[in-house]
Amino acid sequence: MGILDEDVARVRDATDLVALVGEYTPTRRSGRRFVARCPFHEEKTPSFSINQELGFYKCFGCGVSGDAITFIREMEHLDFVEAVERLAGRVGITLRYDDASYSADRKRKERLHEAVGAAIAFYHDRLLTASDAGGARRYLRGRGFDGEAARRFSLGYAPDSYDALSRHLYDLRFSRQDVVAAGLAYENRNGGVTDHFRDRLMFPIHDHRGAPVGFGGRALADGKGPKYKNTPDTTLYHKSRVLFWLHEAKSEIVARRDVIVCEGYTDVMAFVLAGHRNAVATCGTALTDEHFHALRNLSPSITLAYDADAAGQAAAERCYQWEARSEVQFRIADLPPGLDPADAWRADPETLAHALERAAPFLQFRLDRLLAGADTATVEGRARAAERAAALIAEHPSDLVRDQYAMKLAATLQLDADRVRAAVEQRRSGRGRHGGREPAARTGTVTVSPPPARPVDRRETDALRWAIHEPGLVAGRLDRVLFSDPVARAAFDALAGARTFADALAGSPPEVVDLLTRLATEDPGADDEAEALVRKALVNLVEASTRRRRASMLQAGDERVTELTRLYDALRNHEQSEHWDAAEQVAMQLVTWLAGQAGDTG
Ligand SMILES: [Zn+2]
Repeated sequence: MGILDEDVARVRDATDLVALVGEYTPTRRSGRRFVARCPFHEEKTPSFSINQELGFYKCFGCGVSGDAITFIREMEHLDFVEAVERLAGRVGITLRYDDASYSADRKRKERLHEAVGAAIAFYHDRLLTASDAGGARRYLRGRGFDGEAARRFSLGYAPDSYDALSRHLYDLRFSRQDVVAAGLAYENRNGGVTDHFRDRLMFPIHDHRGAPVGFGGRALADGKGPKYKNTPDTTLYHKSRVLFWLHEAKSEIVARRDVIVCEGYTDVMAFVLAGHRNAVATCGTALTDEHFHALRNLSPSITLAYDADAAGQAAAERCYQWEARSEVQFRIADLPPGLDPADAWRADPETLAHALERAAPFLQFRLDRLLAGADTATVEGRARAAERAAALIAEHPSDLVRDQYAMKLAATLQLDADRVRAAVEQRRSGRGRHGGREPAARTGTVTVSPPPARPVDRRETDALRWAIHEPGLVAGRLDRVLFSDPVARAAFDALAGARTFADALAGSPPEVVDLLTRLATEDPGADDEAEALVRKALVNLVEASTRRRRASMLQAGDERVTELTRLYDALRNHEQSEHWDAAEQVAMQLVTWLAGQAGDTG
């Protein structure tokens, strides 16, 4: 269901994987492959390998692998259809869908995006021109934002009316159902429709692709509901997933290898206007697993630009857990106490740059705050501070990190390092006894490297690697009987039975896919020696296979072993004297022989 298989294949074939990967991380040629620093995990030396011809990649560091569709899915968090659509757009292929209801669903979503887009334009126009938006404009000016900023962020004003937006959208031929489903209005008790936002400053929110999905609305008068109100969760808008300004910040996040996460829309505006275009905000919620998942694929560092003291222990522990299972480092921007980034920026635009420069890891930040407020002049004061600091350090899941902080703390407070360590570890074990939270396994966000594959005989993988890279040279010379390893044999069968490499993977179990993609992204050997190397690989494989068969025939007292031994000796003879032509001829006879007898001995 979805896009026609044929079109998926066309898109896959038309996409240059090396160019695609190159948009995220620099690639360079190495032999027959291309290599790059893996965009999915943090690394200094490239272990991400691409086979351009076959359109497959594999990372030997973190284990990810796949084709262009998998790549764009994982990089951009798209579903399969979105990924194919994105790639189709790049290569200019028009897709056909095989399921009418499915395309109806896509059309429906498109319609809702359009409705939100029309609402953005409506509110924006009101903010810039309407007389009733004076309060909203004054509020913005008061916070240091001019008309230019309002235009850059497409800010808007929702008038103090029950249905001004709905009526406007009806005029634009949107149905009542559209307006309600897009979260712009709700059905009221009288059977009519009421606009969701009234008398609010409006911040439009887009998904990561830049499609409009909803709003955050700030109340302009006291006593008219909550200060901030967001679009309710809809088909398009999921507050646990969406990040304000991510669509604009994405490339800058990748370039700077850091993302600034704020709690307020105006905070993001302040950072952007101060030249830090890698800022995003959560929309009325704390950072969720889904947010983290999206961000860690873009950047190895996440800087929280909000009052981390207020966010407290729960936030700290969540960040430690995230750090523990990825290579992302959380830092806390060193904002002046009590000021949010927007206020700090209005007071002095330079403050934000300083806050980022002095950003510290979460635990460091919390210790600094604690020690800054502690009485360290007296022995008793230092002991009390040490107790409280030990409790903070004990929250960190890493032994090494705890130990380093314990030593640092001991030095700062002029206490014995072993005593501080003991205090930390005591707190730590106490946590378990008193129901301290253990790292909860969270599904769907942990990068799990596949378990190391069971080693397959090198002669078998050598032959398979050539079968993948040079199918023309290998065609007709191999037989499944030569493979003793079940995974290698299944891989051979998959290659032999499929029209394309992608087809071979499509029908295979995970361990076979893993072997095939690994081999596809390994360099089999130099181009100009391919023929000679294929021949050697073939002879080696046949030799190993014959030896095994011969042993089992001898054991079973099978008299045909004499004939096999004659060929086997000939093969070894040519092999040792490096007469590869002759060795290959005998090898081919052996393949026929072994394949012909396969039925007898299994
Ligand atoms: Zn990797």
